[in-house]
Amino acid sequence: MTSPADRLAAVRRRIADAARAAGRDPSSVALLAISKTFPADDVRALAALGQTAFGENRAQELTAKAAELADLPLQWHFVGQLQRNKAAAVARTGAVVHSVDRLPLARALARVGEETGRPVEVFVQVDLGGAAGETAERGGAAPDDVPALADAVAGLPGLRLRGLMAVAPRDEEPGPAFARLAALAERVRADHPAAAELSAGMSGDLEEAVAAGATLVRVGTALFGSRPLTSPRVTRVTGVPPGSPEEV
Ligand SMILES: *Cc1c(COP(=O)(O)O)cnc(C)c1O
Repeated sequence: MTSPADRLAAVRRRIADAARAAGRDPSSVALLAISKTFPADDVRALAALGQTAFGENRAQELTAKAAELADLPLQWHFVGQLQRNKAAAVARTGAVVHSVDRLPLARALARVGEETGRPVEVFVQVDLGGAAGETAERGGAAPDDVPALADAVAGLPGLRLRGLMAVAPRDEEPGPAFARLAALAERVRADHPAAAELSAGMSGDLEEAVAAGATLVRVGTALFGSRPLTSPRVTRVTGVPPGSPEEV
């Protein structure tokens, strides 16, 4: 059994090694700890070790955990598919939203930014392809649609565009997929120099993402351990019987 301190140190070392191998400064890659399905106490343990950025992929889990941990100076991020009717609740937590993949969602988030006078920080999520059904489950805008969506997001006063985000497809080597993402990010950055961040890389592929220029890696399993294979919500929504190998 490894401790949270060991796991955090190991992930930081992987990031630093990958950055140096790519000729990059290790401090140019930020670590976002994805705490989905893990209790608030696990977040506290990592926060006590100096980790401040945490991410969730469900609106209700984000709002509950952010409230429970309001005594800590944490920066929350939302990395899951977001329904428009939950956009305001997510934005009001102050979370950075990584999953903007369509204009109506961008507009819903922008309304909160205008209302509060604090622009909502967002990434435009790119669909890097993959098996049928994977995109529907994961979200993301088609690469061809990304430059126009990025233009629209950058033009909304209630939003601040930080860059692009993507998840590598499961049926492809991550390297070439992240290279496509990096090329698209460069194109967006040419028009929006402030949108210089790239959110890519998870426990299994952070090295490839850092090699492609990721400035923010989103790591769950390698920090917190394996997630349960079933969750009550997945069971209820999909009708999958308990015990089925349904990924969270
Ligand atoms: C769960 C999740 C991660 C973290 O994945 P791990 O493989 O557990 O590191 C990263 N990004 C998104 C969008 C996720 O949903």
